[in-house]
Amino acid sequence: MTDTAQLRSAVREFLTEHDPSTSDRLEFLRARFDAGLAWVNYPAGLGGLDAPRELQQVVDAEFAAAGAPDNDPAGNGIGLGMAAPTILRFGTDEQRNRYLRPLWTGEEIWCQLFSEPGAGSDLAALATRAVRDGDDWVVEGQKVWTSFAHKAKWAILVARSDPDAPKHKGLSYFVCDMTDPNVQVRPLRQITGEAEFNEVFLNGVRIPDSQRLGEVGQGWQVAMGTLMNERVAIGGGNTGRESGMIGVVSQEWRENPQNRTPAAHDRLLQLWVEAEATRLTGQRLRQQLAVGTPGPEGSAVKLAFARLNQEISGFEVELAGERGLEYDDWTLRRPENVAFTGRGPGYRYLRAKGNSIEGGTSEVLRNVIAERVLGLPPEIRTDKDVPWKELPR
Ligand SMILES: Cc1cc2nc3c(=O)[nH]c(=O)nc-3n(C[C@H](O)[C@H](O)[C@H](O)COP(=O)(O)OP(=O)(O)OC[C@H]3O[C@@H](n4cnc5c(N)ncnc54)[C@H](O)[C@@H]3O)c2cc1C
Repeated sequence: MTDTAQLRSAVREFLTEHDPSTSDRLEFLRARFDAGLAWVNYPAGLGGLDAPRELQQVVDAEFAAAGAPDNDPAGNGIGLGMAAPTILRFGTDEQRNRYLRPLWTGEEIWCQLFSEPGAGSDLAALATRAVRDGDDWVVEGQKVWTSFAHKAKWAILVARSDPDAPKHKGLSYFVCDMTDPNVQVRPLRQITGEAEFNEVFLNGVRIPDSQRLGEVGQGWQVAMGTLMNERVAIGGGNTGRESGMIGVVSQEWRENPQNRTPAAHDRLLQLWVEAEATRLTGQRLRQQLAVGTPGPEGSAVKLAFARLNQEISGFEVELAGERGLEYDDWTLRRPENVAFTGRGPGYRYLRAKGNSIEGGTSEVLRNVIAERVLGLPPEIRTDKDVPWKELPR
């Protein structure tokens, strides 16, 4: 099914059979998945109809107009944005069939066990060990900044399976059960006062080999696939004109004429145009994705999104005057999702600081763009061919 009209009528037919006002939320979502109307570009049988990715907007708009329940993308961004495309591309049929449906419906939340205290930007330096033992792998190590680990059923995990190989070549990629008693999750408090993320200790966790994604030693390639998707998921979201941060600050501008100055007017217009250009670039990227997998260009959208969010949230604090300095609540909280609306300017200002760190720092993304989009000479890397265990740490 590749046609807008066909998809629209498929949704309408589905809605006549499943009235959202009377259906149980979960049953409705499961049925939507089974009808191929979840992520329409996925294969038939796995929540999709092999349709072009851009037709997702058509389907989502129809369901939203009918007041249908959504699958809570804000609370399951890692599952939907990163784990799912990785499982689709590198998973076996058995893995796809096991994980994708409860992932999409939000019955099972996912987190990402990549970063470590000594391996953030240099992810390939990670030290968490995975040692083969019969049909299992035994995993030992520490991860950090793991968003929503406390809510997650599953994690995508990268671990070192061969310390004798150079750092990029000795990694393997697994699906880890976060409810295993040998997984310990501890909250980390952020600048906002909230604890969205955690440190995670893996104390001899046994992971069946059937939960490996990709070949042994191929973990870096699988992880790169995940990170390319992460950058598009963070920066290239499918948002409408004047949504997100620019929408919040535009509303502030309209509602508070007493705070306007000519200089602020110029600044708002400049930011509005930049936000719109970034949004349209994201849209173009999504159209490109309809025919392939995400490339390094996703880094540019993520970079622009982070810079803009920080500039706009700073502008909002200035515009709001004294009110911009107020903060609602510093008690340690575990937020249900990360939403830039619904809280005050102070929260947005502080939370936006993380945008240039999470999913790859702006400095590292500039390197990616320089090397892989612009073709400029690469950074000098002396550790590429050295066995990981011989690298200074
Ligand atoms: C809100 C938030 C949520 C996160 N969620 C997750 C998660 O769910 N799962 C997960 O695995 N990780 C998560 N992270 C971690 C994130 O991916 C890392 O923080 C990030 O990759 C940077 O690593 P680092 O903090 O170790 O900084 P470092 O790598 O130590 O970098 C420190 C500084 O040096 C700069 N730098 C490093 N290398 C270079 C270079 N080659 N060239 C130029 N500059 C360089 C960096 O840009 C940075 O400014 C999250 C982070 C945040 C802020």
